[in-house]
Amino acid sequence: MYNFEYQNPVKIIFGKGEISKVGANIPKGSKILLTYGGGSIFKNGVYDQVKASIKDFEVIEFGGIEPNPHYETLMKAVDMVKKENITFLLSVGGGSVIDGTKFIAAAACFKHGDPWNILAKRAPVDDAILHGAVLTLPATGSEMNSGAVVTRIETKEKLSFMSPKVMPLFSILDPEVIFSLPEKQVANGIVDAFVHVIEQYLTFPVDSPIQDRFAESILKTLIEEGPKVLANRTDYNAAANFMWSATMALNGLIGAGVPQDWATHMIGHELTAYHGIDHARTLAIVLPGVMHIKREQKKDKILQLGERVWGVLDGTDDERINETILKTTKFFESVGIPTKLPDYSVTSETIDTICTRFKNRGYKVGEKANIGPNEIRLILEDRL
Ligand code: NAP
Ligand code: FE
Repeated sequence: MYNFEYQNPVKIIFGKGEISKVGANIPKGSKILLTYGGGSIFKNGVYDQVKASIKDFEVIEFGGIEPNPHYETLMKAVDMVKKENITFLLSVGGGSVIDGTKFIAAAACFKHGDPWNILAKRAPVDDAILHGAVLTLPATGSEMNSGAVVTRIETKEKLSFMSPKVMPLFSILDPEVIFSLPEKQVANGIVDAFVHVIEQYLTFPVDSPIQDRFAESILKTLIEEGPKVLANRTDYNAAANFMWSATMALNGLIGAGVPQDWATHMIGHELTAYHGIDHARTLAIVLPGVMHIKREQKKDKILQLGERVWGVLDGTDDERINETILKTTKFFESVGIPTKLPDYSVTSETIDTICTRFKNRGYKVGEKANIGPNEIRLILEDRL
């Protein structure tokens, strides 16, 4: 196992009715900017629960944060934070609202020029406005991690940054928010969480049975509970298990002390940037290609995934690897997510564009930083 430091300060408040505790967890006297997305929180009652709990605070609202939050929109909130002397950000939404609010928190305190550099140049985040979250969509793990992904529409760039300064002070996870989720978003959540685990598990073995078995237990729980949530949105226990799985998939625990890959995410971000494809769907497209092209490098772990998660026991190593890739792909398709580029009307022209972009950036991705433009072409051509 590698050396590591692990610290996760996010207070999790989990369960039915717990949104009522939001006010009690915000520092007294705070001036709050409540951030949200396109309005789902008005339809499912989450907004009313939040407002009732924070009635003693001065609150300004900022809605309209898009899925794959736009830098252009978030900068309007940054202006508002400065103008109104906001001291606390309360995000109420899915990964996009929480990620967007992390960026607002950092950008409002940024003193080294254009805040876009936090994303484009990984400029250090020295400080951030305090932030708490009410999660409405289990998927990204953003509620308990230091990462955020922001899209700049003008340049079709989707970039990420990480900083412990933007980790929420608390996150409230009430599984009942799942009751109002459309099927498509539940499916996206299952696949995003699944691939988060894979990015930290399907890597070079470093003798880390604890991390491996944590990872496998999350994958198996998603495989078991995800379809239950899809079949019956008001199955509270299934919703609770799904929600906690998605948080555990990307809160740093299973990735501590082991190699991490993230090539699937990095390539997937380009498919969203150019074609607006939902984040999780891009992962379902790219991951089977990564597994196929890196089958030798990832052989031990693909065989372990096959054996322990999918029950693939028979055949030669090559046959078992093929079967494991197939089972993973079929799982994504079984929750309603197509896995090939033509399913999303993406052609080889986009592959050229993405490869050129990676060539210009000059860095390679993946656990061994050996996935550059040529490998990305092979991965994406595998998905045509
Ligand atoms: P999302 O973009 O936050 O939300 C997708 C849609 O679901 C929105 O239209 C939203 O509507 C709706 N929705 C949310 N909660 C709902 C509810 N309870 N009932 C009904 N509709 C609801 O989806 P996401 O998958 O959570 O976030 C995706 C973003 O996170 C991407 O930009 C991705 O790159 C990023 N991401 C971040 C991390 C990380 O570690 N930080 C990891 C992976 C991905 P409203 O807008 O109306 O609320
Ligand atoms: Fe993700």
